[in-house]
Amino acid sequence: MTNVIIQYLFYGTIIFGIWTALLFICFRNNYGNDQQKKIQEPESIWSLETNVHQQDNNGSEQIPKPHVRAERTSKDRLTALLGTNVNVFYSDPELAHGLLQYGFNIIISRSLGKEREVPDTRNKMCLEKHYPKYLPTASVIICFHNEEFNALFRTVSSVMNLTPHYILEEIILVDDMSEFDDLKEKLDYHLEVFRGKIKLIRNKKREGLIRARLIGASRASGDVLVFLDSHCEVNRVWLEPLLFAISKDPKVVVCPLIDVINDTTLEYTPSPVVRGAFNWKLQFKWDNVLSYEMEGPEGPTGPIRSPAMAGGIFAIQRKYFNEIGQYDKGMYLWGGENLELSLRIWMCGGQLFIIPCSRVGHISKQYIQDNFRFMQSLRYNNLRLVHVWLDEYKEQFFLQGPGLKSMNYGNISERVELRKRLGCKSFQWYLDTVFPELEASMDII
Ligand code: UDP
Ligand code: MN
Repeated sequence: MTNVIIQYLFYGTIIFGIWTALLFICFRNNYGNDQQKKIQEPESIWSLETNVHQQDNNGSEQIPKPHVRAERTSKDRLTALLGTNVNVFYSDPELAHGLLQYGFNIIISRSLGKEREVPDTRNKMCLEKHYPKYLPTASVIICFHNEEFNALFRTVSSVMNLTPHYILEEIILVDDMSEFDDLKEKLDYHLEVFRGKIKLIRNKKREGLIRARLIGASRASGDVLVFLDSHCEVNRVWLEPLLFAISKDPKVVVCPLIDVINDTTLEYTPSPVVRGAFNWKLQFKWDNVLSYEMEGPEGPTGPIRSPAMAGGIFAIQRKYFNEIGQYDKGMYLWGGENLELSLRIWMCGGQLFIIPCSRVGHISKQYIQDNFRFMQSLRYNNLRLVHVWLDEYKEQFFLQGPGLKSMNYGNISERVELRKRLGCKSFQWYLDTVFPELEASMDII
């Protein structure tokens, strides 16, 4: 009898042990999967925004990606991009290296080469529009730092191929101290085909995109300055609608609708009609267009009032750019200049519009090696903006990041003086008149 009891106890213990081990393994696997899923989901707020704001635009469903990079580690970025294929990706070092170096798929970019045709993404109503033969001339300014050769070249060749030459005064390329070899003699050599239309300026030191654009602008002779990033492809009849809007009112600053060139596939896809906005952290975001904006005779093809511009893709009359104080030269490397200029335009007597019939594709790079430095300069530049333009609402900004209050932002006296000289309106006026939705979002942190 005692033997039987001992046998039961012995086998019972073994079975219990096995079940515990199985349960443990099962739990571990589930937990591991959850963790993996978390890593694979891009944690960018922009993916949320996309769901919230998706809207119809003649069949197009994609919101353009923002001109703001989420801070990520390289591993997160690769994982977010490739999901479960991340291991395959790691086994292709060229692709991985290219992604980290340039922010997009350079293998596809190289296979596309120096020029390609992109789909015409314009609303059909745009095809009916006609523009006067006499329009102001444009200087297209493209700054670049360590850009992938083919992406840069496609930017230039798309402008050359899709712009009537009588309105294209010149293309000004500003090399902001790139280090890559293929951007030196090889670039000079290939640009020869466009001789006569291209000026190439090489900065002797890295200036950052804000000062690099100013260097380009100082060498321009066209009536209008058109700024593009070095990884864009313009679409058909892209420039005429921008120049036409400025010819009617020189204090109007205009942006094309920014189509998305996917950073992984380099596929060119249309964006819906959106307007530029931002939150109290001064993070740029795309936003729904208020319905009344599209109720005019031009429907969804008319100019859209935009509280902010996304970044470096816009057109402004050269004289007006100088009158309203260009950019803040005290800003560093990258970031914040788009919102600073947007506020300055609105508060100092100008207007900012998105022109939906003008379309320019842009590769939204989400990770590049300079990310950390970029984030530091963004913070500094934003502080300059806050102290010059936000009046009493600067407290709302500091609520989002109390540590920022005591941080250095250099000397802003010149910009404060500029604001006075131009007789600019208050930030309260901007909230009341241009962007009431921002004030309404004040309690949401
Ligand atoms: N750029 C530059 N110098 C810099 C940083 C950027 O000339 O120090 C160029 C860059 O090559 C690009 C443009 O400025 O053509 C805008 O930069 P980016 O595309 O990184 O900005 P985003 O698209 O995120 O606004
Ligand atoms: Mn860009």
